[in-house]
Amino acid sequence: MTSTARFTDKVVLITGGGSGLGRATAIRLASEGAKLSLVDVSEQGLADTVAAVTESTPDAEILTVIADVSKKQDVENYVAKTLERFGSIDGFFNNAGIEGRQNLTQDFTVDEFDKVVAINLRGVFLGLEKVLAVMREQGSGMVVNTASVGGITAVGNQSGYAAAKHGVVGLTRNSGIEYAQFGIRINAIAPGAIWTPMVENSMKQIDAENPRRAAEEFIQGNPTKRYGEAPEIASVVAFLLSDDAAYVNAVVLPIDGGQSIKY
Ligand code: NAD
Repeated sequence: MTSTARFTDKVVLITGGGSGLGRATAIRLASEGAKLSLVDVSEQGLADTVAAVTESTPDAEILTVIADVSKKQDVENYVAKTLERFGSIDGFFNNAGIEGRQNLTQDFTVDEFDKVVAINLRGVFLGLEKVLAVMREQGSGMVVNTASVGGITAVGNQSGYAAAKHGVVGLTRNSGIEYAQFGIRINAIAPGAIWTPMVENSMKQIDAENPRRAAEEFIQGNPTKRYGEAPEIASVVAFLLSDDAAYVNAVVLPIDGGQSIKY
């Protein structure tokens, strides 16, 4: 089988499909034959992703579902709609997330903490809860949860994000060892600084006057001295969701140019 056929007849569900890493992964997987179910809170984001996917893969089969991943009913709905349309869920990129406002812990506020944790951690759990039930019934499935370098090391000023992403690492390891016996693999990615709207906004938080300068300074700490690009995440997600990674399970894979291992 050639690499271009890895996802023929496979259905992949992507949350946060309306931007950044979700969109780049949608483009990549469609180019390898996947049928896509794209979930996001942003209708416009989903429409833009559909346009971007069909530009490179004109005959791509795509379902879009507007849903808030932190809401149980919305999650039940995106799973039900995906099954209604495609009949199975072979791959799940459990990816939607927000950064939240940056602040010292004492100033972080419990409302901001709850909001970030609800989307980034509860949302990942709710997705796992519903999708793993489907995959267990199928006797197969591949999951990639989006953690972060902020989930395996300390970034600072991100209480909610750090707690949630460390939690995603724990969920991945826990579910990964539970479900391998059912033919299901569950891994996580820990991206470093990847140039998406999220990171662009993050730089505006660091320096509202001159976000470009903040971005330049920030990336000097990375061994590669450059930001990652979303397609460089998509190719790794595609690998983890494919049979090429058949014996990779419960792993948290940094994709960060070496940032997280640096002293
Ligand atoms: P992004 O902002 O470009 O895309 C995130 C998408 O998630 C958006 O389309 C947004 O509308 C959607 N979303 C937000 N809240 C949602 C909700 N409640 N329900 C459904 N959809 C929702 O950001 P990105 O960089 O593509 O981030 C994707 C994931 O990668 C996030 O989990 C993020 O924490 C993680 N991540 C990103 C980086 C990076 O450098 N870009 C690094 C580490 C981890």
